[in-house]
Amino acid sequence: MNEPKDILLEKQVIEERIDALARQIDQDYKDKNPVLLTLLKGSFYFAADLSKQMQATHSIDFLTVAHDSTGMLKVRYPPTSNLKGRHVLLIEDIVDSGLTLHYIVDYVKKQGAKSVTVCTLLDNPVRRLVNLPISYIGFTIPDVYVVGYGLDVNEYYRNLSDIHIYEP
Ligand code: 5GP
Repeated sequence: MNEPKDILLEKQVIEERIDALARQIDQDYKDKNPVLLTLLKGSFYFAADLSKQMQATHSIDFLTVAHDSTGMLKVRYPPTSNLKGRHVLLIEDIVDSGLTLHYIVDYVKKQGAKSVTVCTLLDNPVRRLVNLPISYIGFTIPDVYVVGYGLDVNEYYRNLSDIHIYEP
């Protein structure tokens, strides 16, 4: 396995941006008690740091999706909270084709959520296949594969503090 290459986003830049996102979300979600629905595994550092910076009262939950034997996306581990009537803020590490998010937004709506919005740390719009509104974007990045700050290659490098470019 290759070593990660150049740093694309430094720890401090990431932290400052997350702080700004938290301020924005605080304003938009005041008195709405949102649930930060976090897509595992890649988003768990981002969700934790965003949650810690937020002042607005909120809860956190998690879900995992996986492809079944026919290649269809399925929810593997559903959230434990009841999403009916809740304001759901989906927390993603990176939106690429948008297919994962498209599926999850649909799933959350079917659970009866009052609202569903998306917050992603990274957006790679070049590879987008389905168009979907993203309310909060940390950084728009060029079409590169990235690792670190939760993002992996074969489950490794999630623990890196900076986000690096990775070339297989
Ligand atoms: P999408 O369904 O939008 O194509 O893919 C989203 C998921 O693919 C992300 O949640 C992430 O797990 C993975 N992914 C997409 N691009 C990258 C990348 O550049 N680096 C890493 N580590 N994962 C990525």
